[in-house]
Amino acid sequence: MRLGIDLDGVVADFNTGWIRRYNRDFGTQIPFDAVESWDGIPSLTHFRDMGEFWEWARDHDGHTLFRHLEPYPGAIEALERLSRRHDVVIVTTKPDWAIHDTFAWIARHRLPTREVHISDRKWEVPCDVYLDDAPHVLEGLRRRRPDTTVCRFVRPWNQPVTGVVDVHTWDEFEDVVRGLWSETHAL
Ligand SMILES: [Mg+2]
Repeated sequence: MRLGIDLDGVVADFNTGWIRRYNRDFGTQIPFDAVESWDGIPSLTHFRDMGEFWEWARDHDGHTLFRHLEPYPGAIEALERLSRRHDVVIVTTKPDWAIHDTFAWIARHRLPTREVHISDRKWEVPCDVYLDDAPHVLEGLRRRRPDTTVCRFVRPWNQPVTGVVDVHTWDEFEDVVRGLWSETHAL
């Protein structure tokens, strides 16, 4: 099966990454788990809007913030196991200026993929199963790809979406994929 996997908030720990950097740059002590809503960043910082946040995120010692993110524990190991039987298709949304750092990150962490899509029109990438954390992405995939399995990686900044399967851990996602695989291969 083709597994459409998002990066930020799913494989890459975007919030810990930017908060660590912000605390260092500005002498603040924002806890790593402070983000509890999709648009929560400006309210935790001195940035007036996401435009100002992205302006800051764009240049960290000659690289973008995305280059410095850490993977969530166990995420890459789970992708490796999944890639033995399935195609891991990376489907991620990024600003234009983050494209090269995204490829660098995928290479540095040796993600087991041969296919990367950097797009905000994720539904255009055909997959059997999708895994994402963004509320609007999950709704869009559910609506435009009705014949697929869409999974929400449950995070404090998202809520249940009708018709979307909730997964809390990578183990749970592997169970969902295994279940779908054995359904298709029953008989
Ligand atoms: Mg995401």
